[in-house]
Amino acid sequence: MPKKCRIWHPFTQHKLAKEPLEVVSGNGTTLTLKDGRVVIDAISSWWVNLHGHCHPKIVKSIAEQAAILEHVIFAEFTHNPAELLAEKLSEILPLNNIFFSDNGSTAVEVALKIAYQYHYNLGKPKKKFYCFDGGYHGDTLGAMSVGGRSTFTLPFLNLLFEVKAFPFPQNNEEEILSQIQQAIEQEGDDIAALIIEPLVQGVAGMRFTTSDFLQKLEKILKNAGILLIYDEVMTGFGRTGEYFASTRSKTTPDILCVAKGITGGFLPLSLTCMSDQIFDAFLSSDMQKTFFHGHSYTANPLCCSAALASFELLKERRFATLEAKHQTRMEMLKQDDRLENGRVLGTIAAIDLKKGKEKGYFNEHGPKLRHLFLEHGVLMRPLGSVIYMMPPYCITDDELDHIYNSIPKVLDQL
Ligand SMILES: *Cc1c(COP(=O)(O)O)cnc(C)c1O
Repeated sequence: MPKKCRIWHPFTQHKLAKEPLEVVSGNGTTLTLKDGRVVIDAISSWWVNLHGHCHPKIVKSIAEQAAILEHVIFAEFTHNPAELLAEKLSEILPLNNIFFSDNGSTAVEVALKIAYQYHYNLGKPKKKFYCFDGGYHGDTLGAMSVGGRSTFTLPFLNLLFEVKAFPFPQNNEEEILSQIQQAIEQEGDDIAALIIEPLVQGVAGMRFTTSDFLQKLEKILKNAGILLIYDEVMTGFGRTGEYFASTRSKTTPDILCVAKGITGGFLPLSLTCMSDQIFDAFLSSDMQKTFFHGHSYTANPLCCSAALASFELLKERRFATLEAKHQTRMEMLKQDDRLENGRVLGTIAAIDLKKGKEKGYFNEHGPKLRHLFLEHGVLMRPLGSVIYMMPPYCITDDELDHIYNSIPKVLDQL
């Protein structure tokens, strides 16, 4: 018998990691483990699930499509699920040209390449990108280049292209805006685009900015001819309490990336959306102005059919009720003096643990917290010292109470 292949898990140090827990099934907000335990998925399985696990409407949509057309090349061909999805999403997307790929990192790579080639096609090449400290845009090289520098990126520093990262505004938005304005005055002609996670920096620890900041940023960049890229891979499809962070902040980027929630968490799919102005800059009889980029599974029909079913569920707007539910419970949690900076935006709630030497991702209590939450029947994955909840939109009041009540209990055991 050949030895079974060893599985290398993501973000995992296998020398230290415990055996992974086997999940046998999912149903609504819960997951059933092989040992029989049932846990509430308080983080939507890495922020992808919107309507609960195994939602029958999405299951049905995928199954039906699988029997009709499972996949087809998307260059010079199209199919009904992609066409229909383009039509449906135009109801909510702020931009109406879409390029398909299959995960958040590639949606960002596509955005960066399109922004770069846009200026090239106009005959005014620009070299550099602006971004923010602590940003997370994915794990491919381009996405890492515009992301925060950390332990994650250290071995690759020499491979990453040149960017300028501004401090992420924390109660000093005006100051950061004037730093950006000053930088633009010096080198604005060489800047292709600025990329930001609008309203919420996710991986950096659920750090929020205001709509006002984004509105002013949008103005500054438009005046300077610098493209604004929104990475809405996490914030898209209802997470901030509106369809998109752009909707909530009343701002419109030039390019917008979505992924995670687009299929309701069933299958990998992503979109890079752009303005007509950008699309038009690639129209030419000169082949050199073509966007030569594509992935084998581009616009896979099964993924599109999942996205179509998820969209119908999204239109029920259950995400809109979660902010108030989080807020009442967060007010209680804020009384706990082991915690600080309680904050809520849409379906996202976060609070910081005071304990621990290291703030942020590598806080020494992170792994212990994960383990303790599971013992209380909750799947949580604190970003180091940041405890956050981002449940599927179908979470019940009782389940939400259970999650919030587990926090002080876990802290008692820490
Ligand atoms: C998760 C995430 C990504 C990367 O998406 P993948 O599908 O994991 O490649 C990019 N940007 C943001 C804001 C994310 O949260």
